[in-house]
Amino acid sequence: MSILIELIGVSKTYGEGTAAVRAVDNVNFTAHSGEWIAIMGPSGSGKTTLLNLIGCLDQATSGQLLIGGTDTSKLTRSELVRFRSETVGFIFQQFHLVPHLTALENVMLAQFFHSMTDEKEALEALRQVDLADRATHLPSQLSGGEQQRVAIARALVNDPKIILADEPTGNLDAENQRVVFDLLSRLHGEGRTIVMVTHDENAGKLADRRVHLEHGRIKELLVFSAEENQDFDEVLEHLWTRGEPGGHVESHSFTAVQWRKLLNTMAGIGLVTVTNGEGLFTAKGEARARDVIRRHRLAERLFRDVLGIHDEAEIEASACKFEHILSPEVTDRMCSLLGHPDACPHGSLIPRGPCCGEKRVLDSAEAQSILSGIKGI
Ligand code: ADP
Ligand code: MG
Repeated sequence: MSILIELIGVSKTYGEGTAAVRAVDNVNFTAHSGEWIAIMGPSGSGKTTLLNLIGCLDQATSGQLLIGGTDTSKLTRSELVRFRSETVGFIFQQFHLVPHLTALENVMLAQFFHSMTDEKEALEALRQVDLADRATHLPSQLSGGEQQRVAIARALVNDPKIILADEPTGNLDAENQRVVFDLLSRLHGEGRTIVMVTHDENAGKLADRRVHLEHGRIKELLVFSAEENQDFDEVLEHLWTRGEPGGHVESHSFTAVQWRKLLNTMAGIGLVTVTNGEGLFTAKGEARARDVIRRHRLAERLFRDVLGIHDEAEIEASACKFEHILSPEVTDRMCSLLGHPDACPHGSLIPRGPCCGEKRVLDSAEAQSILSGIKGI
């Protein structure tokens, strides 16, 4: 599946100075083509602001929004209007139908912004929501549920890739809620990408994925893959060694774009803060970096001093592998085995661990058991 929507460090602030409200705060988020996403969260958490940013109805104060690879901040106003009408269809809680236009004319209004109006197509859109027989009715002559279906027909008429829905059933009774969710399910089944704001848990369950907002931030129990965690560790190691006086700076293998994305993701989980593109440790990030560096340098000592490996490249490659798989207990035992060394083979300091206070010397049976354990990894 390809990425369709990508937000990188997106923030939106309303007002200035002490009155400023950060409605959306450093959001990093991607949606794949064909996904149905529910944005959930309490009132005032920034759901509508986020949806309006995705739909280009509003512009971010900072950060980047890419849709289908297009950087929307680079579009001119008129390009943006065209891009929006081709790419997204909106469904609002308040329907937003024009009162003195018929259902058909309301649908044709969306075509007008897109290209040419086409009555046949507009009628077909109404047929898709089972309202062809209400084409000449005014909104006031339609029930709430019917009005929302007209609004859905209007959202569909330009055949957009993305449907954005802001509490689409917030003003509807149970029966009409069901009709609207059935419609959204059908659109999802046809392969459309849907981003829907709701605070209804059951509605959220219809979606493929739920994103919870709180105070403008994505609140999620993020589960990262082992590869992603290794990438984070690589970034942390680089930042750590860069801050060491006279030390050798650990290189990293990321492109500038990957590096920036990683920093933003890591900022989202509180490992770093990002200022002018530069990453700085938070206390949590620094503690994790210390642990990674400690594991890495202890592993280097182990390979050289105990296992007698002197090939630099081999030591480095093995240490890089070991730093990800050593548990805190094994790390401390390895530290004890090595006699709590102060420095790695290159002379860089090894951060102290909880075991280092004891300076306990292992007997040979303990050392043997640790060694065979490590060799077995
Ligand atoms: P939700 O949709 O989750 O209820 P909103 O995105 O509407 O939340 O609002 C998020 C925050 O931004 C709220 O504190 C709200 O008061 C503020 N806000 C939203 N729109 C504006 C605006 N146009 N001007 C000033 N503050 C706004
Ligand atoms: Mg809202």
